[in-house]
Amino acid sequence: MGAADDSAFEFARSRVRNEIYFDQRRLVDVADGVGIIAIAIGVPYLLWDHVDHTRLVVWSALLALSTASWVSTAIRPDTRSPLLRAIRFGWIWGSAVLWAALPWLSPSAAEVDLVAWVLVFVVTYGIASDVVFIPQTSDTSLAMILTPYTSSYVLVLLLAEQWGAAVAVLLYLALLVWGGNGWKAITDSLIDRRVESEVRSLVDELTGVGSRAAATLAIDELLAEPVEEIACVFLDIDDFKQLNDTYGYPAGDEVLRQVATHIQTVLPDSWTVARFGGDEFVAIGAEPAELDELATFTATITDHGPITPLDLTLSIGRTTLPRADTEAAALFREAGAALRAAKAAGKNQLVDMSPRLRERESDRLALAQRLTDALDEQDIVAFGQAVTDLRTGRPVGLELLARWPQSDGSMVMPGEFVPIIEEQGRGPQLGELMVRYAVDFLAELRQAGVTDVYATVNISARHLFQRTLAHTVAAILEQRNVPPHQLVLEVTESQHLPQSSIWRTTAEQLRAIGIGLAIDDFGTGYSSMEQLLSMPFTHLKVDRIITQSFHRPGAADLAAAIAAMAHGGDMVAIGEGIETEAEHRQMIDAGYLYGQGYLFGRPVPLDELIGEFTSTPVPNPTS
Ligand code: C2E
Ligand code: CA
Ligand code: CA
Repeated sequence: MGAADDSAFEFARSRVRNEIYFDQRRLVDVADGVGIIAIAIGVPYLLWDHVDHTRLVVWSALLALSTASWVSTAIRPDTRSPLLRAIRFGWIWGSAVLWAALPWLSPSAAEVDLVAWVLVFVVTYGIASDVVFIPQTSDTSLAMILTPYTSSYVLVLLLAEQWGAAVAVLLYLALLVWGGNGWKAITDSLIDRRVESEVRSLVDELTGVGSRAAATLAIDELLAEPVEEIACVFLDIDDFKQLNDTYGYPAGDEVLRQVATHIQTVLPDSWTVARFGGDEFVAIGAEPAELDELATFTATITDHGPITPLDLTLSIGRTTLPRADTEAAALFREAGAALRAAKAAGKNQLVDMSPRLRERESDRLALAQRLTDALDEQDIVAFGQAVTDLRTGRPVGLELLARWPQSDGSMVMPGEFVPIIEEQGRGPQLGELMVRYAVDFLAELRQAGVTDVYATVNISARHLFQRTLAHTVAAILEQRNVPPHQLVLEVTESQHLPQSSIWRTTAEQLRAIGIGLAIDDFGTGYSSMEQLLSMPFTHLKVDRIITQSFHRPGAADLAAAIAAMAHGGDMVAIGEGIETEAEHRQMIDAGYLYGQGYLFGRPVPLDELIGEFTSTPVPNPTS
């Protein structure tokens, strides 16, 4: 770790220590308070026969009241009103002094004895509570200090009764030193552990800059300082994924570390640099900073022998907001939006948040909110497009396609809203809704006596990572008494099917139940043949990029090769986007069994599709 990292670490450590110390002081105060209230009750009990009863009661009441307000201050230290604070403070100390003075006004031997050790307690308290630490604000630690503290007071009371004040005080001091040291040793190590884990949560392990939590903390700090404006900058390495794919993860890590240092070097020392996640960094500061140098950077990869210099570019989004009316979430949101704009404008540049951008952003948020509601209210509906047997022209199945109807009667297309749903992590929710629509549709067809049609639903790759997917889908099918082989789930190839074991397990579970699995948009992604054939797919859907490119040399052979590969892997080959009779014929010649496309029918509301399957099919002339 470099010098800058060490200071970030030290900074985090002292902050955590102060926080813990503050919590502990409050706990010790509460514990002491309870101990003193025990004295306020114990003293009258022990001295009842030796001292005037009225004096004893007044004395105890004063002590108890003083302590109660002290404890209440410790529990709720942040009273806003200065007057209330002054009254509290005056009362605590005023009543304490009165209490201590009372026996000396007309002393009796017993009282003076008692006050002597209680005063010693007051002095030792100050030392003891500094020495004794408590690991954290939890019920256990409260009990941990309450028990010995309270019992030590009562013990001293009993000793004073038995052997007099001097012996009691000596024993009490010994107890404090012995017990306090033991405590300190135990709790210090507990604190260290907490400091360590909290510090760890503030430092990004990979790069040594701050973590996301540290960035939030840096903003909170600036919010408490007399600065005019706070700037928040998001930085993202362009095409980092490609870099990782090309050079491997260790090299990617090396680049992340170098970029972190690069950002720290260019920005003023007063700025906080943190890794927000992945290849995204965030920088926070109040001091003006020049960011132009940040957008380009040459990294060196030393991982594989010779040093490889690598020219990188960064996309940067910045927002600067007046301190008076902002908060961490707003700064992050704005900088994130500016970064998105920088990416959209072609990467490798700095975009500042502007009123125009702000307006676009709020539109985007409103849309996202409306979409969330629509999904929750099941206002997203399903259209269906027939899947046709290319030789007979008979519809054999249908693909469900999501549509978002608007109040003005228009439809928002999935290309616009599905990415937003995915971004919100609600892909599985949409997938499940569409599965329900599909199963309802199939159940309806079954009631009409049609049992050989299949329905296919698009699901997101994220959905396949849900271990419960197979179980959920099976339950929906069972509810409506639809056999699993009538349902097919589609995943697009471009989602870069991960070689994950969870994925494979889910896929195999689906297959074991009898549910079909289709690879969608084949030809647009990067799956290798090997990867493809090792997955339990039942259907392969060739993208219309291939269907519609027969005029290009070699395209027919490519389409035929894909169909042959699909059949070799026991998959049904389906051609998408068939718009013309020529394409239809060419797909048959290339070996495709089924097809979809405007030639056979556009996507229509599901209930308009029922008739297609219940009426007798017209034989297709090209068969
Ligand atoms: P996709 O799965 O490849 O669906 C086929 C798309 O091609 C549909 O667009 C369909 O209307 C269109 N299409 C069908 N035949 C033809 C044709 O002959 N020519 C042309 N040019 N296009 C044709 P749509 O409905 O706009 O859906 C777009 C994409 O949105 C879908 O592509 C799919 O990836 C995604 N999508 C749709 N519904 C859902 C859903 O419920 N969940 C998820 N995760 N994604 C969905
Ligand atoms: Ca599809
Ligand atoms: Ca497709």
